[in-house]
Amino acid sequence: MEALRFVVCGRPECRQVFFLCSACDRGRRYCGAACSRRARTESMRQAGRRYQRTRDGRLAHAARQAAWRQRQKVTHQSPPRGAPEATVAGEPARPAMGADAEAGPARHLPHAPPSLPTCASCGRTSPFTRHTTLARTHLGPRWRGGRPP
Ligand SMILES: [Zn+2]
Ligand SMILES: [Zn+2]
Repeated sequence: MEALRFVVCGRPECRQVFFLCSACDRGRRYCGAACSRRARTESMRQAGRRYQRTRDGRLAHAARQAAWRQRQKVTHQSPPRGAPEATVAGEPARPAMGADAEAGPARHLPHAPPSLPTCASCGRTSPFTRHTTLARTHLGPRWRGGRPP
């Protein structure tokens, strides 16, 4: 059985973990086409716009944090502060039911999907993963007999 390689997306703003089988492992560094495209655009911008780029990254990070906090608040049933659209006007008889449906056990999946590592490129699954690159694996046996790298 073939092992998939454990890869972390090369975009610092993403850091998505994904897997690649050896057939698809051609030095791919990004989790998807969107990220590799963005990474290319960003590296082209990098020369003249380093400041802008770091600022974008920070904004994206803040947005993710806010979204996460928002989810936490929903789970704990406390209304988000400073979000007037969350306090629903109308239907005064049903707010309690609405809150129950929002934070109830509906979020909990009864059957967790099998989380076998899947090749992000061709969809092949494998119960085995490796954190090393192919190159390093090939170098392995040589170290034993010769000098250290
Ligand atoms: Zn990514
Ligand atoms: Zn593959």
